[in-house]
Formats: sequence, C-alpha cells, structure tokens
Amino acid sequence: MSKVLIIGAGGVGGVVTHKVAQMPEVFSEICLASRTESKCKAIAGQLKRKIKTARVDADQPQEVIRLIRKFDPDVLINVALPYQDLSIMEACLATGVDYLDTANYEHPDKAKYEYKLQWRQHKAFRDRGILALLGCGFDPGVTNIFCAYAQKHYFDEIHTVDIMDCNAGSHGKVFATNFNPEINIREITQRGRYWEKGLWKETAPLTIHKTFDFPGIGPKEMYLMYHEELESLVKHLKGLKRIRFWMTFGEQYLTHLRVLQNVGLTSIVPVVVEGRKIVPLRFLKAVLPEPASLGAHYKGKTNIGCMIEGVKNGKKRTIYIYNVCDHAKSWKEVKAQAISYTTGVPAAIGAKMMVTGTWCDAGVFNVEQFNPDPFMEELSLRGLPWVVKEM
Ligand code: NDP
Repeated sequence: MSKVLIIGAGGVGGVVTHKVAQMPEVFSEICLASRTESKCKAIAGQLKRKIKTARVDADQPQEVIRLIRKFDPDVLINVALPYQDLSIMEACLATGVDYLDTANYEHPDKAKYEYKLQWRQHKAFRDRGILALLGCGFDPGVTNIFCAYAQKHYFDEIHTVDIMDCNAGSHGKVFATNFNPEINIREITQRGRYWEKGLWKETAPLTIHKTFDFPGIGPKEMYLMYHEELESLVKHLKGLKRIRFWMTFGEQYLTHLRVLQNVGLTSIVPVVVEGRKIVPLRFLKAVLPEPASLGAHYKGKTNIGCMIEGVKNGKKRTIYIYNVCDHAKSWKEVKAQAISYTTGVPAAIGAKMMVTGTWCDAGVFNVEQFNPDPFMEELSLRGLPWVVKEM
C-alpha cells in the first residue's frame, strides 16, 4: 500500500488520478495538487474514492517540498508542464521521494527538447537512493517500451524505427490542440529532426510527409518531426541505423497553424502591448480551448505505434506494434479524450511499477531501460491493449 502525489490537474492529470484511484490495492492514498486547486476538486468530485487536493506552485521547489513533507508520498507523478520538471525533481531530491514525468524539461524562453539537464541529475538521484523515471506517457513512454519489448523478444539487432502517431479524432472545434496548447505548438513548429547513421539530420518544419494506412483508422498523411524519445532511444537500442518520428495532421489544422505562425502568434519572444510584456503564444493559449474541455464531444480514434526493422537469427524482419484508442470510450471511462487517456494510463502504470518494486533502481532512467514485460501486461489490463503485426 502506498501514497501517491500527483502534480498537475489538466487533461492528463485527470486521467492519472482516475487510474490510480482504480488501483486501491496499490495506492491507498492519493493527493492531487495543482496551481488552481478548484481544478483538483473538480476531478476529485468525479471519483468514487475520497482523495486529498492541494494548491501548489510547482515552479517553487520550497512549495513542493512543504507539500511532500505534509502528505509524505512514496511516489510523485509530475503531469504539470515540462517547465516544472527541474524544480519538482529538486524537491524530490530534498525529500527522498521517487519521481515520474511524461515530458522532458524545457526552459520557458527556449523551445528545445533535451534530456541533458535531467540526465545530469543521475548521480544525485543514485546517491540519494531514489528513482526518477522520465517520459512515462505514450510518446515518449509506451513507444519506448514497444521498442524495448521488440528488442527483447523479436530482434537480435534493431536497424530502423519509425514511430507513427495518428489522431483521427474530431472534437468539433475549428482549431484546438490535444494537450497543453503552448507546449504542443512549441513542439510542432520546430525544425524537423531525425537520426541516421550516427548523425542528427534537420529538415524545415513539417516538410517531409507521406501517407500511411493506419489499422482501425485508414490512410492518413503523416509528417516527419522531432520528438523527445528519439534522443533516449538512440542511446538504448542495439545496432540502430535510423530513427524517425511521424505525426498526422489534417489540412484544416495545418492551415490554421500556418496563419497563426505567419501573423506571429506562435512566437515565444515577448512583445509590448499597451505597456505590458506579453508572449504571443501564451496569449494564444489563453484563447484556445483547454485540452481537458475537448473530451465530451470527441469522436474517432488514435493509433500510435512503432514500425521496427532489424534482424533475428541472421534473417531480416519487420514488426509493427501499435495501440488503437477510442476518444468516446475514454470519455465514458474517465471523462477525458484519448490523447490525455493514452498519456495518463502509462503514467499511472509507471507509478505502480515503481511502488511495487517491479521497476527498481536508483538514479535517473528512461522507461526503455527497464524490463518491458510487466508494463506491457498492465497496458492490456488497464485500457490500452496493443497488437504486434509481423509485416
Ligand atoms: P494541461 O495544460 O491540460 O494541464 C497542465 C496542468 O499543470 C494544469 O492544471 C496547470 O494548472 C498545471 N500547472 C501548470 N503550471 C503549474 C505550476 N507552476 N504549478 C502547479 N501546476 C501547474 O496539460 P496536459 O494535461 O495536456 O499535459 C500535461 C503534461 O503531459 C505536459 O507536460 C505535457 O507535455 C505532457 N504530455 C505528454 C504526452 C506523452 O505522451 N508523453 C502526451 C501529452 C501530454 P492551471 O490549470 O492552473 O494552468
């Protein structure tokens, strides 16, 4: 029996809270904390179990430390924003509590995704005897675990990986993002990047694209972009020659994004408006729908998976591992759309792996560094069944 502290009461935080509440045999006490406590209380009101709620500004390590000392959790799940990763890790180090997140650290003034600053904490976490599990959502997260599973059971060497993320759902809004608008738009307006034969190769944003026929969905146009799991998988997969990440976008979405970019609203460089400094992208976030609000009318499915090529016993082989998730089903179960669902379920499973000692180590690790089998079993049991297709 253990106590879990969740920080962040957005779309993903709601799902994590529902899912850990569904495991009373593992998590005997739950506290959900966020910058706006009323959002925690709204989520708490959807549950059959009683949980605690709190207000915390996770940019302030001292506030997180005070909250940890008061609630005394065994594990902290960080599903606030990537900006808070380092301050929450600092609080975990100060108090000796295991840490889990779903997105790598970013500085608010610089849209750059890298694990460097979090990996740098490895020795401090090891010396403290606690675990930091990084990137335990779907992508990063389950996609890394799919690769680890393929490496363990299907290949002697993996040569190429294409991670493919398709959201074929429709929320009925003209333009909205499926997770935090600021983080999402920073990510997709970056230059594309993939890794081949030891080198990172860059492309102009969203210029390389192709059609793929997604099982359960049908043909969709997917665009090459950089995604953070590439950085850790390059380190952890044996014999890798190339790894790329693809995401589908509809024409309407891309047209809106292009216009917003052209008029400067996706910029993170502050402008002065009537004597006040405003970051255009933050203003845009404020007028776009909140991801947590999209679920009620969302229809359709997501399909996220990995196409993996390599060799086994001297023979070439290609497998495709994927999950299909239904927006309306997610809403029915936990009042969230499938993007929040596919992120929140793995975070809850990751926390279970940690508190039960199934995944046990000290230091800072990415999910593909642990045994994928128990996690894969849990995925099927907890709402995210997966398929392995020999191609
Ligand atoms: P939301 O914007 O819906 O929720 C973020 C929550 O964090 C909000 O409740 C917000 O509070 C809270 N928050 C922000 N700043 C602070 C702070 N300083 N202190 C305390 N709480 C704070 O985002 P999502 O739920 O969609 O995403 C959550 C995380 O999940 C993000 O880091 C995102 O990158 C990650 N993610 C990962 C995916 C994966 O597959 N790995 C996929 C999708 C998302 P307030 O309401 O007051 O603003």
